[in-house]
Amino acid sequence: MKNVIFIAPPAAGKGTISDYLVKNFNYVHLSTGDMLRSEVASGSLLGKEIDALISKGSLVSDELIIKLVESKLKNELFGKLFILDGFPRTLPQAEKLDEMLISMGVTNNVVIYLDVTLEEATKRAVGRIVCPKCSRSYNVYYKEASPLIEGICDDCGVALEKRSDDTEETFKKRYQTYLDSTSPIINYYKQKGILESINVMRTQNEVAKDILSVINDENVSVKRRKSD
Ligand code: AMP
Repeated sequence: MKNVIFIAPPAAGKGTISDYLVKNFNYVHLSTGDMLRSEVASGSLLGKEIDALISKGSLVSDELIIKLVESKLKNELFGKLFILDGFPRTLPQAEKLDEMLISMGVTNNVVIYLDVTLEEATKRAVGRIVCPKCSRSYNVYYKEASPLIEGICDDCGVALEKRSDDTEETFKKRYQTYLDSTSPIINYYKQKGILESINVMRTQNEVAKDILSVINDENVSVKRRKSD
């Protein structure tokens, strides 16, 4: 199986698909958003600076995120099957990631672009509630994504919370940041020929089927949803 690198607008479902891959296969999940939020939760000075950026829908600096990811990649992910969720988010991050993966000899990777409309992503963000313990996310607007007991995580039994950046106003800014800084990476990976595009506005089973077909090494010759 291949290492997975997700490129997607905010709230497209990277976290939910990552949970599925971790539960069903041998994947280790690295979410840069979760990593930054735990720094915020620690109350450190750096956490306060990060919080100010996240809350207004901006990105943290390339320098900081590259340093954090580089250390995780080399110390915790090396030799494992991994998912990068939320990195890279800018062209310099993508270029640096290439450099790191090449230097580590990690070549079996696929970049998956999650295709979702702005309207759908907004609904997913505004309705999202998250478990502060395991980071599993639910959505109050979708029955199949709601917790069994209202407001409580099915897995941990703790009260679910709303992310500070999941308001409609901040979401608009996050989406604009995505268009300005992240969407240029789509072309970058397209040109490298390792980009797969998956429409995530379908049932979970349909999305899972497509994900499996692009992460399986055996299926390289039968990719059906190659990006145009
Ligand atoms: P996410 O949980 O992936 O939606 O990320 C939440 C927020 O963390 C983003 O809106 C950014 O402010 C910040 N963030 C996450 N990953 C990165 C990254 N690779 N580069 C810069 N900022 C990031």
